[in-house]
Amino acid sequence: TRYVYRFGGGVSDGGQGDKNLLGGKGANLDGMAGIGLPVPPGFTISTPVCALYYEQGESFPDSLKAEVATGIAHIESVTDKKFGDAADPLLVSVRSGARVSMPGMMDTVLNLGLNDDTVVGLATVSGDERFAWDSYRRFIQMYSDVVLELDHGRFEEALEIAKEDKGYNLDTELTAADWHALVAEYKAIVVELWGKPFPQDVHDQLWGAVGAVFGSWQSERAKVYRRLNDIPGDWGTAVNVQAMVFGNMGDTSATGVAFTRDPATGENAYYGEFLINAQGEDVVAGIRTPQYLTLAARERAGAKPASMEEAMPEVYGQLADVFDLLERHYRDMQDIEFTVERGKLWMLQTRSGKRTAKAALKIAVDMASEGLITQEEAIARVDPSALDQLLHPTLDPNAPRDVLTKGLPASPGAASGYAVFDSDTAEKRANNGDSVILVRVETSPEDIHGMHAARGILTARGGMTSHAAVVARGMGRPCVSGAGTLSINAKEGVMRVGQREVKEGDLITIDGSTGEVMIGEVPTIQPELAGDFGTLMVWADKVRRLKVRTNAETPLDCRTAREFGAEGIGLCRTEHMFFDAARITAVRQMILADSEAGRRAALDKLLPEQRKDFTEIFEVMAGLPCTIRLLDPPLHEFLPHEEAEFEEVAKAADLDVETLRRRAAELHEFNPMLGHRGCRLGVTYPEIYEMQARAIFEAACDVAEKSGAAPVPEVMIPLVATKRELELMKAVVDKAAQAVFAEKGRTIEYLVGTMIELPRAALRAGEIAEAGAFFSFGTNDLTQTTLGVSRDDAGRFLTTYVEKGIYARDPFVSIDVEGVGELIQIAAERGRATRPDIKLGICGEHGGDPASIAFCESIGLDYVSASPYRVPIARLAAAQAAL
Ligand code: PEP
Ligand code: MG
Repeated sequence: TRYVYRFGGGVSDGGQGDKNLLGGKGANLDGMAGIGLPVPPGFTISTPVCALYYEQGESFPDSLKAEVATGIAHIESVTDKKFGDAADPLLVSVRSGARVSMPGMMDTVLNLGLNDDTVVGLATVSGDERFAWDSYRRFIQMYSDVVLELDHGRFEEALEIAKEDKGYNLDTELTAADWHALVAEYKAIVVELWGKPFPQDVHDQLWGAVGAVFGSWQSERAKVYRRLNDIPGDWGTAVNVQAMVFGNMGDTSATGVAFTRDPATGENAYYGEFLINAQGEDVVAGIRTPQYLTLAARERAGAKPASMEEAMPEVYGQLADVFDLLERHYRDMQDIEFTVERGKLWMLQTRSGKRTAKAALKIAVDMASEGLITQEEAIARVDPSALDQLLHPTLDPNAPRDVLTKGLPASPGAASGYAVFDSDTAEKRANNGDSVILVRVETSPEDIHGMHAARGILTARGGMTSHAAVVARGMGRPCVSGAGTLSINAKEGVMRVGQREVKEGDLITIDGSTGEVMIGEVPTIQPELAGDFGTLMVWADKVRRLKVRTNAETPLDCRTAREFGAEGIGLCRTEHMFFDAARITAVRQMILADSEAGRRAALDKLLPEQRKDFTEIFEVMAGLPCTIRLLDPPLHEFLPHEEAEFEEVAKAADLDVETLRRRAAELHEFNPMLGHRGCRLGVTYPEIYEMQARAIFEAACDVAEKSGAAPVPEVMIPLVATKRELELMKAVVDKAAQAVFAEKGRTIEYLVGTMIELPRAALRAGEIAEAGAFFSFGTNDLTQTTLGVSRDDAGRFLTTYVEKGIYARDPFVSIDVEGVGELIQIAAERGRATRPDIKLGICGEHGGDPASIAFCESIGLDYVSASPYRVPIARLAAAQAAL
């Protein structure tokens, strides 16, 4: 087997640039070299070596040494320099590169190949002694940090002291002699912390860096990132070794990062930052403030320093051509790193750029309209879950806001929450249900868990391409970065702007679209659903087969869901209507009654109220199917607690408080989820279901009478285990229907069906289908009962289960396809065998989860039902599943 693939100088061993083999970075370097772009020559050590490295007790396969030597020889021949040559040394960069970009891993070592001898050669060849010694000290610092894992604070401290001693403010003021002296100090620090001198053999340096890249694959941070992003541990990373080019060789040199379209808004305009006379790390680290790439962006921002378009018009022109070529080649928005060395442009990296949901949507729709991709590809390119970002409210522009300061609009969307100053606290408070805003001077990969837990992220330092900005955009968290006036004291838990102070736990709001930071909570407004969003939804609707309904029980939710494109109600949980303050006393009276007559008296009070509910819902859902589920939860959920509540019910029911208390105690259950709930209520107290059915049919007749658009009620019986239960309950519903139709002098089309949420029901679906016209899979309960895991208590141990790989994902979020999925499949098959036209849907939380929707498509369900805000997610996911 071959492990090393060369690129550059007219060579591209990887051919089509295989991401699985070469990693994302390696594949794209190979790809760029393949289309003739100026890529510094280099080679990639393939990802399988990573797995071998661990299998063989952290050592390399035998043949690798020789292959790497061939790789180095390739770079030497293209650059006409020699690795370790004291006269004209070849310097290389070493970078990790997994299939997908992965913060948390060792990233980059630059200037590798410098030592006490080669630094002198570099000084002579470049004619720039200062540059040579600066490069050497950068190398020692970086290598010590990422490869030797020594405390980088010590090196920064030494630099600060050197500057102070000389009375300098900026790094650029240090002379060759200053850097030279600092190199000596750095080497002393290495000896002190590492116990050995800094490696002088360039091959030792190289193998040290290669080992560190593979070693970082199993670092804690990388593991956390993989867990959060569902990246398998056996993918491994590749290592890229590439000739150095220098953006810091004076004023005709520069380095920058760019996107071929705006990653925040999706606008079709180049977007990027660059620095003259700098190395790549300077742009990303946020130490110097980068300049704009284009004139238009500079003018829009009202910034002074010349844009690249103005400062280096010729190279900028070449760069723009490269952008266009890359977009056409990869047919996607690219995120690019480039360097200009003494007027010559070099491409260091390209990859599909991370983008906000808004940008993803706009870019997909634009590219399809430009003819660069098809509509199907556009549909496939937008992550359905990310739509969430667009569907949620933004800050009300007319609401008063108390602006504390302003930073960069790094990731759009608005968020309010309690300010917290470290990631552990953010995670802790979020686990307790608090909304938090994570406030940091800047973030690092160690903050991933805190960023994930936070509603929004605020940093004092760093630009639009800083760690915070990039990661927040990827996670879909609003982010304001580089709010320079903020002074943060994380230890004391306080941040200040001038005289104003925000303490840990104070409410703040950030607007990632404007960069504003506000004190307190600012009200929000609903998002705009037309434009690109509407276009993509139209395309998605053309290809999807699954219908999308909603879980809703209020007219407001129904209206929202219809605006989002719901094609009916998949689940109306009637019990939600019982908690209303005006009704709860009558509900309690019903529950606590000790006779049918007592229950009927209370139900008579509830009937007009229920009818009103259904009337409003049927009006909003005009003509669409509406699945109404009869009462489901254990009765004790409605019981009174306070003395005053008991007294109120006693008065309404004309009973004494003592009797009521006794009755309440009788209703106590040890395991209510498996107790007196669902159709068991209807079996024991049929009058409850009778009342509900009557309310449904009266409302349906009334709405048909008034508007002419009759709804299609689908009356659903919960928690059925046997055919007999469903038969009994269907008889109750049918009887109520006949009675109402006779009274109203009109008939309404309706169905009676059941939820499948118990394993027995799934297994006996063949005979249950004889009694019911539809099945709706209640996958919340079906997961609970199949796995024997309480849906209300699972949080305490499920994370561990997912971490240990027992379940790939939380089975209450994404269907356990192998277990619960098989039951659903069995039920669907057996149901259809009895009743070929049986309607099949899903109404558990999984109905809004893209992976579960793909499963529903694969077994041919008729519809999925999701909460209103997830309806568009479901529409897109259903379309993707059908592609
Ligand atoms: C279910 O169990 O999946 C369901 C939709 O019903 P509920 O969540 O109300 O129990
Ligand atoms: Mg249920």
